[in-house]
Amino acid sequence: MTMRITAQPGIMDIALYQGGASKIDGQAEPLKLSSNENPSGCSPAASAKVAETALNLHRYPSTDHSALRVAIGQSHGLDAQRIICGVGSDELLSLLAMAYSGPGGEVLYTEHGFSMYRIFALSAGATPVVAPEADRTVDIDAIIDRLTPATRLVYIANPANPTGTAIGLDSLRRLAQSVPPTCLLVLDGAYAEFFEGYDGGASLVDEFDNVVMTRTFSKLYGLGGLRVGWAYATQEVIDVLNRVRGPFNLSSVALAGAEAAVNDRAFVETCLQENAAQRVRLMGGLNQLGIACDPSHANFVLARFADEAEALAADAHLKHEGILVRIVKGYGFPEALRITVGRSDDVTRVLDALARFKGVS
Ligand code: PMP
Repeated sequence: MTMRITAQPGIMDIALYQGGASKIDGQAEPLKLSSNENPSGCSPAASAKVAETALNLHRYPSTDHSALRVAIGQSHGLDAQRIICGVGSDELLSLLAMAYSGPGGEVLYTEHGFSMYRIFALSAGATPVVAPEADRTVDIDAIIDRLTPATRLVYIANPANPTGTAIGLDSLRRLAQSVPPTCLLVLDGAYAEFFEGYDGGASLVDEFDNVVMTRTFSKLYGLGGLRVGWAYATQEVIDVLNRVRGPFNLSSVALAGAEAAVNDRAFVETCLQENAAQRVRLMGGLNQLGIACDPSHANFVLARFADEAEALAADAHLKHEGILVRIVKGYGFPEALRITVGRSDDVTRVLDALARFKGVS
C-alpha cells in the first residue's frame, strides 16, 4: 500500500473562500459595489508614498513596523508597544486562532459571522461553534450560552458583515465579563470607524486582559490592495503574535502607504461624512422600493428581497446595468444582496436600476 501525505484533520472541511467577482462578462468597467471598498479610493498622500517607496524594492522592509505602529498609536491615542501589524486584519485574526486555539479547543462566532472565522478555526485544528443571532444582530446571551471550558476564542465583528448591524459597548462589556480568563474575546473592527461613537473596543482591551481588537486599512482607508491590518491587545498577546508572524510579513510599500494614510485625517473625515450621508440615501431608497434593510452602521447595506428567486433576479438585473453587488447566500442570506455604499452618483445609479427592476420607473 502506498502511503500518501494528507492535510491535518479539519483542513479538507474548509470550503474555498468565495470572494466577490470583480468583472461582469462583456462589460468594461462595472460599478463595483461588492467588496465594501472605499468608493473614493485612498489618500493621495498614500498613493504618492507607495510610488516613492517602490523605487527601493531591493531593500527588506522593517521587521518591527515601528514607524507605522507609532503613527497608528498617535492617531488613535493608543500605546504603540501594544499594537501589531499584519497582512490585512485577516492575518492577525488567523494568527490568533493558531496561537490560542487548536485540537480540543472551540472557536465561537455567530450565525452570520464573517466567513473566515470558520476557516481560521479549522486551520488551527479547533472546533467551530456557532451561536444564533437575534434579528440579524449579535445576541450576547446566545453567545454566553455556548461558552464552555473548551472555548478558546470568540470572534465578533462589530459592526457585523454582511448585516451591517452593530451592538453597543455596554453589551460587549457584558460579554467580556462572562468570557472566562482562559478564552480570548476578539473584537473585529474592520468596519468600526463607520459606527459613530464606537472606539472599536479599544477601551475594553484596556479593561480586560483577554480582549483583543483588530482593525484594517482595507475599508475606510481604501487600501484593500495594500493588505494592512493591525491589532491592539495586552503586551502578552502582542508578544505571542510577534513570535508566530513572519519577520517581514508587511512589504515596504504597504508599511509606507499605510503610514501616510493614517496621517491623512482630512481624507478619512471626508470619506466618513460621505459614507454617512449616502448610507442614509441608500437605506431610504431601498425602503421606498419595498426592499427591506436593517439600519446599517457600516459602509454597506444588506438588501433583503422577498425570496432567493427575487434576489437572484435583482442581481442579474443589476449586472445587466453594469453594477456588481454581493450575493450573500454563503452567509445564510439567500434572499439578500449586500450593496456597498458608493458615492452620490453610484447610489443614484443603483437605486434607479433597482427601481427599473421593481417596475417603479
Ligand atoms: N473582518 C471582516 C468582518 C471583514 O469583512 C473583512 C474583509 N472582508 C476582514 C475582517 C478582513 O479584512 P482585511 O484582511 O482586508 O483587513
